[in-house]
Amino acid sequence: MAFRATHLLGIEHLAPPEITALLDLADTYVDLNRRTVKHANALAGMTQINMFFEASTRTQASFELAGKRLGADVMNMAMQASSLKKGETLIDTALTLNAMHPDLLVVRHPHSGAVNLLAQKVNCAVLNAGDGRHEHPTQALLDALTIRRRKGRLHRLTVAICGDIAHSRVARSNILLLGKMEARIRLIGPPTLMPSGVADWGVEVTDNMAEGLKGADVVMMLRLQKERMDGAFIPSEREYFHRFGLDAEKLAHAHPEAIVMHPGPMNRGVEIDGTLADDINRSVIQEQVEMGVAVRMAAMDLLARNLRAARGMAAMGEGA
Ligand code: ASP
Repeated sequence: MAFRATHLLGIEHLAPPEITALLDLADTYVDLNRRTVKHANALAGMTQINMFFEASTRTQASFELAGKRLGADVMNMAMQASSLKKGETLIDTALTLNAMHPDLLVVRHPHSGAVNLLAQKVNCAVLNAGDGRHEHPTQALLDALTIRRRKGRLHRLTVAICGDIAHSRVARSNILLLGKMEARIRLIGPPTLMPSGVADWGVEVTDNMAEGLKGADVVMMLRLQKERMDGAFIPSEREYFHRFGLDAEKLAHAHPEAIVMHPGPMNRGVEIDGTLADDINRSVIQEQVEMGVAVRMAAMDLLARNLRAARGMAAMGEGA
């Protein structure tokens, strides 16, 4: 099987054939999800625990639905911000849950690297549902599936990623994935919202929307991540919208068939014009949500297969 990973911690660790295998399987789950009866049994008998240490609407609902549609027993832990005091708290919680024999742990955490740390402590498959500003692999995979279905390919597309790149795990995971697929990536935003070291990322960088959007096949807008900002990064939201907010006028610089994406939650009138966000001829934002469920089903299905295989081999070793 092309997909060898035992955890889904980031796009960084995935090889292009693993990404393709996951997207191919996700395509079949899109079809299943469009039927009236949406059940499959890839996770039957398995236990999935969702631990969200940071607020989430789409991602948590999507993982829950994905697990239930594949027959898993799904438990959502309400992780209060107050239980987040020290690194030990996370590990202690993980060890407690691990003792209950989960098979899949879905974790979102405000600290970059926390999910990787946790994965070393448990003996089940761990999926990163977003860690700080580090990675959000299922978001990049659902974005890739959306693009691939709309554009017929991922290779050699020009993708403009606009806005708060510095604080965005969505941007990071997308840049890694699209880079592996040889897309041409342009980052657009004010210099204050560009990460340090961006010059070494192999992408084009500009603070001019007209220049950055020119001929783009895909325009991906990002939310201003105020919760990760510790100072003033923009003069005002009004000024920001004027220079970097996507509206029909700025979009006219892109390819005439360019699609508009946003991972949500959106700030209408800040990074994107509300009318454009709702324009079903240009915006694929709702489709991204649909693809999210299918991609999470595919990711958990593939990890569960590898988990079963690894446990089967371990059991054979024990028997010998
Ligand atoms: N929902 C995405 C994330 O969790 C994007 C965002 O919050 O702006 O990173």
